[in-house]
Amino acid sequence: MECVLLGSGGMMPMPYRLLTSLAVRLNGRIYLFDAGEGAQLGLKETRIGVRGITLVAVSHLHADHCLGIPGIMMLRAQMEEPEPLTIAGPPGIERFIRETHENLAFYLNYPVVFREWAENGEGPAYEDDQVRVHWRPLEHTRFCLGYRLEELERPGKFHPQRAAALGVPKGPLWGKLQQGHSVVLDDGRTIAAEQVLGEARRGRHVAYVVDTRPCRAIYHLIEGVDIAFVEGMFLPEDGEHAERKDHLTVVDAGRIAGRAGVRRAVLVHISPRYDVEAVTRLEAAAKARFDRAEMGRDFQIYQVPLPDTD
Ligand SMILES: [Zn+2]
Ligand SMILES: [Zn+2]
Repeated sequence: MECVLLGSGGMMPMPYRLLTSLAVRLNGRIYLFDAGEGAQLGLKETRIGVRGITLVAVSHLHADHCLGIPGIMMLRAQMEEPEPLTIAGPPGIERFIRETHENLAFYLNYPVVFREWAENGEGPAYEDDQVRVHWRPLEHTRFCLGYRLEELERPGKFHPQRAAALGVPKGPLWGKLQQGHSVVLDDGRTIAAEQVLGEARRGRHVAYVVDTRPCRAIYHLIEGVDIAFVEGMFLPEDGEHAERKDHLTVVDAGRIAGRAGVRRAVLVHISPRYDVEAVTRLEAAAKARFDRAEMGRDFQIYQVPLPDTD
């Protein structure tokens, strides 16, 4: 799994910093979190093919998080027979996309599935055969959602000596057991995968939390994740802007990430008031709170290794 940061800025795209957008890539599929104006530039620069985009998860209906979606949809329609696309987000995301589609009358050659947050709506924002994406409302000037992507549990470690002791011949049957399937032997006995596998192993967890004041929901979303992309919009001395507009400072982000036991925190949604040089100061302030915090950099790729390889 790898996380590709397409942009790390907030409010407006700058020549030196695109708007915050995160692509999580796993086995050829891409799960995209937010797409503001100019998101296509990040996709081009990092050579992420739009064909693989399976999900676009939107935090909220502020322009810097959603204006780039129509362009990505158009680009994707240039492919031959793309898979369906799921767009998840706050109430109103479906209307925004549908009306834009209608008004601009752009060509689409694939179905779009919408999943809007509903107050009593249970269940994840999205799931497929490799990940589940959870969501939770944050606290911002507009209704805003944070996300947590969890790779599904992987089958436990295969114990060859157990398989041999049960009389399973080495070969394709071992492979099936390794993948978690039960097998039937020539003598009619059924061997369940659990008999030869260790405990199931957890998958990798990634969190995406932007545009919020400090709140409880952030802890739920980022707790113990392998990597968290968290808003770090301001320096603490500019904290009154954060306070007034419901954003996090780098110190808020560092403190929360440290308390939540995050393995690595990448701070994003950086205010356009800070130029490239100022980012060093933001990073120092964040690291003083949490030494595994760093400022996000456009086009950087963050590898997320499996938690245990045994
Ligand atoms: Zn924003
Ligand atoms: Zn916002």
